[in-house]
Amino acid sequence: MRSVDFDAVIVGGGVVGALTTQLLANQGLQVCLIDQHRPDDPTGTLDTRVVAISPGSQRVLQHTGVWDAMDAQRRSHYSEMVVEANGQSLKFSAQAHGLPALGWIVEQKHIQATIWALLQEMPQVTIKSPAQWDHWVSTEDGFKMHLADRQGDLSETMTGRLLIAADGAHSPLRRRAGIEASHWHYNQVAWVGPVVTTNHRPGLAWQRFTDWGPLALLPIPAHESQTSSSIVWSIPSHEYQKRASLSDEEWLAILNEQLGEGDAAGPMGPILSIGPSTWIPLRRQRAKQLVKDHLVLVGDSAHSVHPLAGQGLNIGVMDATALAECMASHPLDTALKRYERWRLSQSTLQATGIHWINETQRLPMGLGRLALGGSFAVASRLWPIRDLMIKSACGLDADSPQLARR
Ligand SMILES: Cc1cc2nc3c(=O)[nH]c(=O)nc-3n(C[C@H](O)[C@H](O)[C@H](O)COP(=O)(O)OP(=O)(O)OC[C@H]3O[C@@H](n4cnc5c(N)ncnc54)[C@H](O)[C@@H]3O)c2cc1C
Repeated sequence: MRSVDFDAVIVGGGVVGALTTQLLANQGLQVCLIDQHRPDDPTGTLDTRVVAISPGSQRVLQHTGVWDAMDAQRRSHYSEMVVEANGQSLKFSAQAHGLPALGWIVEQKHIQATIWALLQEMPQVTIKSPAQWDHWVSTEDGFKMHLADRQGDLSETMTGRLLIAADGAHSPLRRRAGIEASHWHYNQVAWVGPVVTTNHRPGLAWQRFTDWGPLALLPIPAHESQTSSSIVWSIPSHEYQKRASLSDEEWLAILNEQLGEGDAAGPMGPILSIGPSTWIPLRRQRAKQLVKDHLVLVGDSAHSVHPLAGQGLNIGVMDATALAECMASHPLDTALKRYERWRLSQSTLQATGIHWINETQRLPMGLGRLALGGSFAVASRLWPIRDLMIKSACGLDADSPQLARR
């Protein structure tokens, strides 16, 4: 059986794994990327899975050439953000914080496919896809991994110094390595997809904590001159179960009832129609360690968070960037220790904050929204708090990797 040696093997070619591959290959390392699927990125229709990219992540993507290689027509920026609870609102503007934008809404598949296209041009990168690992063992100076082909027969063996798990929240690699993770089922689903709203408010990202949970309307490029937003509505699973027996019109009526009538519906006004949508069960998980022997976790394999703050992928981008920065300036052992210390504390802080916002808003009898509304009222009067919040959400605080802050 043929055996190939790499500096690093990355399992999982989502945005985080693909970006990690690119950042390490840019340092001249021989890198192998393995994924069970190749990304598909159909043009012409908007994919339902869009993500908010923070200015810090945008800078990393810009630096690696991904941003310029992406289709600029397929993203929208937002320079204003409003979050509402219990009639109180917290407003942020890019200009006030000296930023070109507070974020961009982009199809996740488009980012992933763009990075893959760039990787295919890099001589230091080997892509194995569709492929998956069958088993692997730690060795004295790294690891040895066997790949399985489509039929499940062993087809190749590879060795390497560093094995990187970027294989998502269920992370088979993390589980196989015996790294413990804490799990939290929210008993909520996120209902996502494009909607047509009454008013067109380009440049505004708006979120309200409704009776059922946080509802965000995010600007997306207008298709066929319709006023479009992408909706992310996190709702209790038992309420979502009703959806199956309801027509689109009945579901739309429930949605608008939650928003309120007239001006109460918010700046985009009532929703006129819904497009193709999907739903995703929500849970939080957090690995107790990020490094074990020669295995390191990045992205959702290390931590997945509630989508209410639009941060999961951004935290993963910071993992990839931090790992590459540590490896560029330290020997491997030291680099991994520094990476773990850095990202475990930083991502835990962000994930805990997001988790408690969600838990607070779920307190019964409207108490949660009352508490959130009260804190919004206080924060809206305190500039340093708002500035701290925006720097952290944008990936621009002092603890962010240099590439994000540059
Ligand atoms: C409703 C919703 C809205 C969200 N909105 C935002 C947002 O606005 N902003 C934001 O920053 N984040 C957002 N997120 C979070 C974001 O989607 C995730 O954090 C992100 O997808 C994690 O990327 P990843 O590359 O770590 O993992 P994934 O995207 O899960 O990729 C994992 C990859 O590993 C591969 N893989 C898995 N197992 C194997 C195996 N055994 N062998 C080979 N390959 C394997 C998969 O094929 C896949 O390509 C949202 C999440 C949800 C649910």
